[in-house]
Amino acid sequence: MSEPDCLFCKIVAGEIPAEVVVETDRAVAFRDIEPQAPTHVLVVPRDHHRDAATLATADPAVAAHLVEVAAQVVRQDGHEDYRLVFNTGPDAGQTVFHAHLHVLAGRSFTWPPG
Ligand code: 5GP
Repeated sequence: MSEPDCLFCKIVAGEIPAEVVVETDRAVAFRDIEPQAPTHVLVVPRDHHRDAATLATADPAVAAHLVEVAAQVVRQDGHEDYRLVFNTGPDAGQTVFHAHLHVLAGRSFTWPPG
């Protein structure tokens, strides 16, 4: 299921170009247009869900699959350690309302995040 006005649905459909690094039957991983680390990839479900919690309720297997794909992306880029982030809601920094897992790797990260 896709939403007509959703940016990431359009990337999944190939209507907007993106640098895709992994594709499976249920997920697509592509490089963030504004990378915050040497590896900054977004892993998204092919089906539209507004955020991670909605996805996890509707389809927990796909939610887990996103994490598996993230690990594959990190291995593929030659890293070991990585940070995974689901921004959920505007105050948490979510700007695109199609669930997406940020995969960040290739540098040291601080805690807490900004
Ligand atoms: P959020 O802020 O919702 O957690 O993350 C959205 C992410 O999507 C941001 O890191 C932003 O840089 C990325 N982004 C926004 N528009 C595009 C685009 O057209 N292509 C790609 N590849 N990434 C995008």
